[in-house]
Amino acid sequence: MTGVLVALGGNALARAGGAGSWEEARVQVRATVPVLAEIAAQGHELVLTHGNGPQVGALLRQNELGEPEIPALPMDALGAETQGQIGYLIQAELTPALRRLGVDRSVLTVISRTEVAADDPAFQDPTKPVGRFYDDAEAEQMRQRFGWILAFDEARGGWRRLVPSPRPVRWLEGRAVRQLLAAGLGTGWIPIVSGGGGIPVVPRAGGGYEGVDAVIDKDLSASLVARELGLDILAIVTDVPGAAVHFGTPRQRWLEKITRQELRTLHERGEFGAGTMGPKVEAGLDFLDGGGRRFIITDIPSLPRALRNGVGTRVERD
Ligand code: ADP
Ligand code: MG
Repeated sequence: MTGVLVALGGNALARAGGAGSWEEARVQVRATVPVLAEIAAQGHELVLTHGNGPQVGALLRQNELGEPEIPALPMDALGAETQGQIGYLIQAELTPALRRLGVDRSVLTVISRTEVAADDPAFQDPTKPVGRFYDDAEAEQMRQRFGWILAFDEARGGWRRLVPSPRPVRWLEGRAVRQLLAAGLGTGWIPIVSGGGGIPVVPRAGGGYEGVDAVIDKDLSASLVARELGLDILAIVTDVPGAAVHFGTPRQRWLEKITRQELRTLHERGEFGAGTMGPKVEAGLDFLDGGGRRFIITDIPSLPRALRNGVGTRVERD
């Protein structure tokens, strides 16, 4: 049996340009789950992870509007909320889809923390935009009130908060989920883990961990999860059928089967967008370098065929 981690991108969970309502999310997830159920029905061991950008952005805004009546929560707590809400929705929709195909597995969300290094250079150089856009006066107010760092977005003509994006070092719930998968003889559970890249935490003096205001790239975190669970395949699902060279130009060409070395060379040449396709490719290379067998980038409809090695960007370990 082959173990697959499917990392769901933003558009598997919410429609681009939508209002962000729960009903929209449900419709989108309902459209996504038949493919996941099909993969489980084919006998693959399945683990899921997902992004949370729009959801955490909405919660940040809600918290801001709720002040001062209800104290705003820190980002780690909001990250946990998004894991809960998205995991719940996938559980609710994937379970009946599995039953329709006669698959008797339990879908379960594991609130996941990802350890990052307190001295990660990212903390000195926040780069990840989160939340809504602010005008000049609001931006100044946020600087004074919360000490935020904001960047001006020329295209949108507004300021946006920047938070650090440190590298994931360790998935704290990894051991528990490994045991869970082993107890289910590999097919009993479909865990949903490390949503939004996991809740970023650093070790606390005197024991334990504490959350930090940061965002972990969900693709790099997916790669870590896949390695920690010893899965064979990392499949990153996004809104394009694969990675392309000369992306967005008339010479654009989708990459199909490609070697690890070829992909690395293209990445070093800067073919893949920073913050979008770049981290996906890096996640895949890390996974293969760390012993993973196969890496796939594709979209939801193509995923079953991609797993049968028919479509999508596919990279074998050797
Ligand atoms: P997700 O939310 O699924 O993580 P992203 O928006 O972060 O998705 O990344 C997918 C996007 O990456 C594509 O929609 C595309 O616009 C962009 N992209 C940048 N470079 C490339 C490339 N070389 N090939 C394919 N897509 C690329
Ligand atoms: Mg993204």
